[in-house]
Amino acid sequence: MTKVILGGGLSGLSAAYYLSKVNHQKIVLLEAANRLGGWIKSEINENGVIFEQGPRTIRPSGIHGINTLDLIEELNLSSDIRPILSSNPAAKNRMVYANGELHTLPNSIGSLFKVQKPFSKPLFLWLLGDITAKVKIVNDESIYDFTKRRFGIEIADYLISPLIRGICAGNAKEISVKFLMKNLFEYEQKYGSICKGIFNNIFVKKEPLVRKPLATRAKVERWNVYTFNNGIETLTKALELNIKSNNIDIHKNVFVNKIQFKDNSAVIETSNGNSYCCEHIISSIGAKDLASLLKDEHPELATMLNRIKTVTVGVVNLEFQGNQLGEPGFGFLVPPSETPSILGVIYDSCQHPYDNTVLTVMMGGYWFKELFGDNPSNEFLLNIALKDIQNILKIQTPPLRYKVQILKDCIPQYVVGHESNLSSIDNYIKNNSLPLSLCGSSYHGVGINDVIISAKNAVNNSIY
Ligand SMILES: Cc1cc2nc3c(=O)[nH]c(=O)nc-3n(C[C@H](O)[C@H](O)[C@H](O)COP(=O)(O)OP(=O)(O)OC[C@H]3O[C@@H](n4cnc5c(N)ncnc54)[C@H](O)[C@@H]3O)c2cc1C
Repeated sequence: MTKVILGGGLSGLSAAYYLSKVNHQKIVLLEAANRLGGWIKSEINENGVIFEQGPRTIRPSGIHGINTLDLIEELNLSSDIRPILSSNPAAKNRMVYANGELHTLPNSIGSLFKVQKPFSKPLFLWLLGDITAKVKIVNDESIYDFTKRRFGIEIADYLISPLIRGICAGNAKEISVKFLMKNLFEYEQKYGSICKGIFNNIFVKKEPLVRKPLATRAKVERWNVYTFNNGIETLTKALELNIKSNNIDIHKNVFVNKIQFKDNSAVIETSNGNSYCCEHIISSIGAKDLASLLKDEHPELATMLNRIKTVTVGVVNLEFQGNQLGEPGFGFLVPPSETPSILGVIYDSCQHPYDNTVLTVMMGGYWFKELFGDNPSNEFLLNIALKDIQNILKIQTPPLRYKVQILKDCIPQYVVGHESNLSSIDNYIKNNSLPLSLCGSSYHGVGINDVIISAKNAVNNSIY
């Protein structure tokens, strides 16, 4: 009997890839758009410059990072990678814009002991605040409140708030501490402070990570992040080719309208009037989109899925003549308390060998509607981006080329309570014996590594 994958973004393509390795039954992938890849889209202009619409860098570290590198190796893409080494300014110099200026964040052991603006005292003194901070026993809390409580307000304002804007375009005052600092939060809850937790876990033996050649190279060469010479879409294009060669039935321009579960199987109805009966569904589409497909039969599940909200991001890619960046770096983030309307700027030309200055401005996120209204024009966003770039980076010339896109509902927000909502969703699916596995950015991590591993787990879950 057939297994159906809903959605052909990175997680749907990864699910198809992993499933084709273990399953020899019919596999169908249904994608609403006329292309595969979802938010991953790399456009190369006539000058050889890549405008990334969505993600642009991948982290090589940890089990999830190693899993992605293994996948890349299996797809024979190792020679297409462009690593950014930890020693490179494009990795080291990460900046925040605060009090009208750009500040490089501490990036060495030595810099932790110096007063470095925008902080009013050395970072290590803020971090030491953890030793005397009072414990608060809670199930979950916002990452802003947690870091403010344990380390002080400047860490919450200048480090964590901009970081959360950079990772998920979200508001640190609403995002769960477990999104980024689950371990540290659990140390506090279990041992009374993060320092005590770290000390108690120093001697706990950890399983050594198994690394294949590419992951070993990443470690030896000390990659901080990496991208691909021809953009991140290299990965989704290679997955598409691979799954096509494995006879997976791919249908583009097919919007799934409805799912009904019946006697351990499911019926999927699509916009083109077709229906598919299958033994298992792997859904890689957003939680809200899935909710609308099963709300009639399973309203309780739909309510839980609908709790996983998303934000809209404006992405403005810009190319300026020559090198116009004073200091090379990864880019800068803007804390929500500052006046510029932008979330941050990525210095793409520091990651690729371009003669011109290439930047991506991220806009809106949690604040999109408040700042830009319901339906802003591309021109409106472009003008705001250019004005902020002019003020902050002092780039006065007009761009040679630009692209503006509004990515509606593109990043899920793991707000306080997200983890317990996920448990309820899992329990509902198990208790009702629904032949359904979930993957994608709505559930266990919003980054590239997270969604690939979520696809692998969903596939394992679909093989009873
Ligand atoms: C602006 C931006 C920047 C990012 N930067 C980074 C970065 O630098 N590094 C990083 O690691 N991560 C980054 N991410 C996150 C990363 O892009 C995502 O984790 C990843 O692309 C999500 O893939 P997905 O397959 O889960 O979802 P999607 O890409 O959303 O794919 C879901 C697919 O399902 C389809 N679909 C939806 N509903 C239906 C339906 N009813 N029927 C059929 N098909 C349907 C959609 O058309 C889509 O193709 C960024 C994300 C954004 C938006």
